[in-house]
Amino acid sequence: MSRMLDVSPDVRAEIGDEEAELLLSGETAPGSYDCTSCRTPGDSEREPTSTVLFVGDETAVLAFAHAKCIPSQVVAVSEDQLQGAVASITGEAPAVAAATAPEPARGQAVLGITSGLMLIEGELHPALVVEPTTAISRPGSDGPGDDFLPLLIEQGFIPVSDMAEVPSVLSGWSVLLAMGQLHAVLQPGAAGSNPVAWWQAHQALPVTDGWRAAVNRTQKVLVYAAPAGAIGQQPREDLLRDALDKAAANGLLVAAAMPLAGT
Ligand SMILES: [Zn+2]
Repeated sequence: MSRMLDVSPDVRAEIGDEEAELLLSGETAPGSYDCTSCRTPGDSEREPTSTVLFVGDETAVLAFAHAKCIPSQVVAVSEDQLQGAVASITGEAPAVAAATAPEPARGQAVLGITSGLMLIEGELHPALVVEPTTAISRPGSDGPGDDFLPLLIEQGFIPVSDMAEVPSVLSGWSVLLAMGQLHAVLQPGAAGSNPVAWWQAHQALPVTDGWRAAVNRTQKVLVYAAPAGAIGQQPREDLLRDALDKAAANGLLVAAAMPLAGT
């Protein structure tokens, strides 16, 4: 009956074999649920469903998602986010105590991320704009230069000279949305290992309903990156677009399209 439910090995390791078997036997499977990623209804008896374990510093919450939205996985979040998640997830999700909570991953550099919708080729695309708070130097170099864009170009990001074109998909990278919020931008792990966070939200980033709807339609996110100071804090989407146009014209913008994690 609950053959449709997937419990990944890392989720199983956190919740224990007993809990995993209860889920898989259907005893504690959720039946119908609100997908933790796209927030639309799902049914674990009728469609492939992923178990997603949100692990905070002290507690953990088990949630469910369409398998097509995200794969079964453990997502490390701050305790504050987790309390928010508990409040937002329906009462059906059992809270389980995690035996061991992983250290929350922290980015090496502070990257500011803004979400917005970009009108390109007559269609609204969900976009993220990434800008470090300070110049990023290449590991091992202590020069005054900013290597942020060259480093990204080495990873496969493409320089943008014209915002009128949709960037091409960067293989192996993805965007992790969970609980309807932005959690991480993932890059390929070393030599075929699991993806690792290139950017991880200290506090999950809320996105608008319009942004989420656009992702559901296009199934990918356009990620733009510019060096510190090139974009700045823009209070409105039209001003954000202006700043991006200007950065592109000045050769200070790179981009890549990324699918949602697990798709
Ligand atoms: Zn979903």
